[in-house]
Amino acid sequence: MARIVRFLTPAGPAFGLIEDDTVYTLPGDPFAGPLQMGERLGKVESLKLLPPVQPSKIICVGRNYAAHAAEHHAPLPEEPMLFLKPPSALIGHGDPILIPQGIGQVEHEAELAVIIGRQAWRVDRLSALDYVLGYTCANDVSARDLQRKDNQWGRAKGFDTFCPLGPWIVTDLDPRDLAVSCRLNGEQRQHARTSEMVFDVPALIAFISRVMTLLPGDVILTGTPAGVGPLADGDTVEVEVEGIGVLRNPVQNGPAWAD
Ligand code: ZN
Repeated sequence: MARIVRFLTPAGPAFGLIEDDTVYTLPGDPFAGPLQMGERLGKVESLKLLPPVQPSKIICVGRNYAAHAAEHHAPLPEEPMLFLKPPSALIGHGDPILIPQGIGQVEHEAELAVIIGRQAWRVDRLSALDYVLGYTCANDVSARDLQRKDNQWGRAKGFDTFCPLGPWIVTDLDPRDLAVSCRLNGEQRQHARTSEMVFDVPALIAFISRVMTLLPGDVILTGTPAGVGPLADGDTVEVEVEGIGVLRNPVQNGPAWAD
């Protein structure tokens, strides 16, 4: 098991490996493996963390926990329900979520994120996990009123800063039964286990890769448990996934929708 982190250096973004709470350089391409540990850089807290990957796409799955579908009075899908978030929505651990003013309610969605490690096209369930580099935490921030109004979700899910991802990638994690939770200002709002997913991680990779070629660094958000709720200026929202860590982001008012 390794923890891969991406952070800012004076020369630009770089990957590193975390051992205890210390970051080491990671020479070479983490997608080409094997992972090598380089020089000691310093404590994790001393670095400016970035979203751990730059994906070609972020594929999201709607209504993948029965209790969340029920809280929206929506039926369970017979097949995974896919939508996309733009990579420009990504922010890292500690970066502020900016809430555009005048668009109604904006909500948190704690999710397990899958990071694809190598190109996958029409892979089967049994080999699906061989295409995974690792896992991280995600917050599928959603403008709920716009989501209802628009039918298509591109606007509601696609604002800049609406995809916090991190704080790092953990490899060799078994995704079948991990606790996923969300805390708002320290108070628990969402909690479930990935074993409650309607479609598990191998099934999602098999299904999605029959639609689109998955490339190294692509991200799959696997759906959110029940308990979603509004975010407001001054809040701190945390997504925690067992075995990975805590993704923490402050919430701030952003620009007005209409000038
Ligand atoms: Zn979601």
